Amino acid sequence: MVYLLHFDKPLCHARHYIGYTENLDKRILQHRSGNGHARLMEVIYELGIGFRIARVWFGEDRHFERMLKNQKNAPRLCPYCNKRISHMLYQPELFNQVIDMPPGWWDTIDEIPY
Ligand SMILES: [Zn+2]
Repeated sequence: MVYLLHFDKPLCHARHYIGYTENLDKRILQHRSGNGHARLMEVIYELGIGFRIARVWFGEDRHFERMLKNQKNAPRLCPYCNKRISHMLYQPELFNQVIDMPPGWWDTIDEIPY
């Protein structure tokens, strides 16, 4: 699965991390403890910046991860940043709930709301 993390504070211009894992719980624990060989997440940990799981794409692979990274528009994919998909967060108690969206859905979004 491919996942999108939203940082509680921006790091320079970065506010998101996109990763691939087969075990999200384990991967998040690695990120939360500064391990896992993801340099950006190590820096986030060292600076004490928190993060939330913003999106998860189940069944997607590393090619999908690479494609999202190449798009360089994580804010548009993020329900915390993109008001047009903020409904994905439903209710506060579901903030960290993983939410799936069909592949290709972002092609239908033609406007970045900020
Ligand atoms: Zn975001």
